[in-house]
Amino acid sequence: MAHLAFRRRLGAAVVRVGQRVAAAGATTPLGHDSLTGLPDRSLVSETLQRWIDAARPGTSLAVLYVDLDDFKLVNDTLGHAAGDDLLEHVAASMRRYVRDGDMLGRQGGDEFVLIATGWPDRDVLEGLAARLREAAGEPVTVGGVEVRVGASIGVAVWTAETTAAALLEHADGAMYEAKAGGRDEIRWHHPGRIRDRSSDRSRVALTTALPRAIERGELTLHWQPLVSLARGTVSGLEALVRWNHPDRGLLLPAEFIPFAEETGLVTAIDDWVMSAVSAQRHAWRAQGLDPYVGFNLAANTARGAGALERVLDRLTVGGLDVAHVTVELSESAGLREDECVRAFVHGLHAAGVTVTLDDFGVAYSSLHRLREVPARWVKIDRALLRHVPDDPAATRILLASLDLIRALGLECIVLGIETGAQLELLRANGVKLGQGYLLGRPMQAAAIEPLLRAAPVTQGGGATANAA
Ligand code: C2E
Ligand code: MG
Repeated sequence: MAHLAFRRRLGAAVVRVGQRVAAAGATTPLGHDSLTGLPDRSLVSETLQRWIDAARPGTSLAVLYVDLDDFKLVNDTLGHAAGDDLLEHVAASMRRYVRDGDMLGRQGGDEFVLIATGWPDRDVLEGLAARLREAAGEPVTVGGVEVRVGASIGVAVWTAETTAAALLEHADGAMYEAKAGGRDEIRWHHPGRIRDRSSDRSRVALTTALPRAIERGELTLHWQPLVSLARGTVSGLEALVRWNHPDRGLLLPAEFIPFAEETGLVTAIDDWVMSAVSAQRHAWRAQGLDPYVGFNLAANTARGAGALERVLDRLTVGGLDVAHVTVELSESAGLREDECVRAFVHGLHAAGVTVTLDDFGVAYSSLHRLREVPARWVKIDRALLRHVPDDPAATRILLASLDLIRALGLECIVLGIETGAQLELLRANGVKLGQGYLLGRPMQAAAIEPLLRAAPVTQGGGATANAA
């Protein structure tokens, strides 16, 4: 069989990487990553090119590109030492599936690559990808907390005339599609696709296209109503960014914010959003409207140098006041043990800007910090509502979260209300404010204006007054 011949040809050149990996902490051999002991990016691509040079048509050779989901969250919330521990655990778990003649390497950050050789058919390769995903997702205790991260995997199979660089790019592109498609998935590269739409999706393309998108005015805001559950009227709005991409149409934040966060571009997006929010507030004021408005800030934006001054400058441009504005910071950002973020949140509070802790219930947060963060609102993530009320355990978790937040004197907003049964349960349990497709989807400013006129928010009233 072709793959056996291939293995023989490689002979002694085949590196028994599985056994050879240096233990972390020991002196790291050249070409290996010091944390995990795995071959590094350059050794992986050199080896891949060498194996490709020795291959013949029909040789089974594939690249599996693995990127951990939520690694950044662990790193941000539990600290870099915990992040390093997690990477070591994941590397050790995945190593179990490395057979003689294969190579597992670390591309950098939370990205790993497995070069798989000698697999007899696609089913075996699929099984290998599934096992890698399971290995990466095994629960592990780091920083005193049990965490479980998923993995998005892209698979590209070598065909004659494909170089190592192209094969890695194909697998990376497929991995990116797995991420964009909902994460914790496996996607295959299909020959002929990479140079068209999916190449546009590559992160390199995205990082050059995003700054241009801001310059060319391709970002836009949609507004989702925040509704008083008792009265059914609009109590405020959340500004949500979208990218009006010239070729791909309207893109949701999930398609570009995670990459913008990784590359630091998110601060430029957040700056644009704040300016756009203020411009819209001026336009609404001219029409006699002054809704309570929330917008999202990334942790990177909150911890950047001069963040507080920049945010306040943008929010008060043209004499706007901040009484009707709330900054939504994800729970993991707002509660993190980070002096910069802490100073930022306290500075906002001192300046009269309300702080909302967003995405409550989905991060690994230090809950004890809830008592010292000067937030007024806590937005319960829709993950906590998804199985309510059908699943009794999910319902108990939601109700206990409401109790916890209220016991601390904070106010709850529940996100993701999609059914009448959810709405009834929340009303019955005294929740005053909610957001969700049942109550109103995100929409353009012009579409939301009639709703604002039907329930105008009086200036200085704020969401609390309106929620009552
Ligand atoms: P988020 O702050 O939790 O925003 C709420 C998200 O939930 C929005 O998604 C909204 O469309 C969606 N949603 C609301 N109700 C429902 C529902 O009933 N069912 C379902 N399935 N979804 C619902 P969107 O607009 O895609 O935004 C996703 C996330 O992107 C936001 O989550 C926020 O974290 C981030 N984001 C949005 N705009 C910005 C921004 O300007 N800056 C930053 N840094 N992040 C932003
Ligand atoms: Mg939000």
